[in-house]
Amino acid sequence: MGPPGAGKGTQATRVADHFAIPAISTGDIFRANATAGTPLGQEARRYMDAGEYVPDEVTNLMVRHRIDEPDAERGFLLDGFPRTLAQVEELDGMIAFTGHRLDAVVVLTVDAEEIVARLLQRSEVEGRADDTEDVIRRRQQLYAEETAPLVEVYRERGLLVEVDGMGEVGDVTERILTSLDPIPQS
Ligand code: AMP
Repeated sequence: MGPPGAGKGTQATRVADHFAIPAISTGDIFRANATAGTPLGQEARRYMDAGEYVPDEVTNLMVRHRIDEPDAERGFLLDGFPRTLAQVEELDGMIAFTGHRLDAVVVLTVDAEEIVARLLQRSEVEGRADDTEDVIRRRQQLYAEETAPLVEVYRERGLLVEVDGMGEVGDVTERILTSLDPIPQS
């Protein structure tokens, strides 16, 4: 977890590689579908381009199918999911069904000023339609309203691992792996 621009995608790939499990990014799956023009992608694009969340029913179903793929059997790292309280509940149900267990929830903490700079830079590099200033602001607002409360939910469950997301990519990865080290893997 972490606000837009915290470096979730970059870190998710690196951490998942370390554990030899897939990084499952809901944003990436939506973007791939949008590019391919699938019905899911066409629906998701309307929300993504405006910085809004894709409806829970659509997102949940997609994650349910994805974690059922053979490569996720020994475990997976979710990037960008859950983002709402309803998704937290759905995830609980999904993994109860597949027999997985949540080992940890990593939240990257970052400085708000740095985030906007990172996102504007990413918009130049990647050309993401949701990296304009207005949309960035909306995504940050949604994160604060809908997603930040999940941090407390997972803290109460004893699953939260808070990591400083500022600085060099490699340093942040090291911090995450060091924080995860004492946690037993299911
Ligand atoms: P991300 O790449 O994680 O920043 O996600 C990009 C966009 O995809 C978000 O702004 C949402 O529109 C959509 N999205 C990704 N994950 C979710 C989710 N868990 N719930 C709802 N919408 C999502």
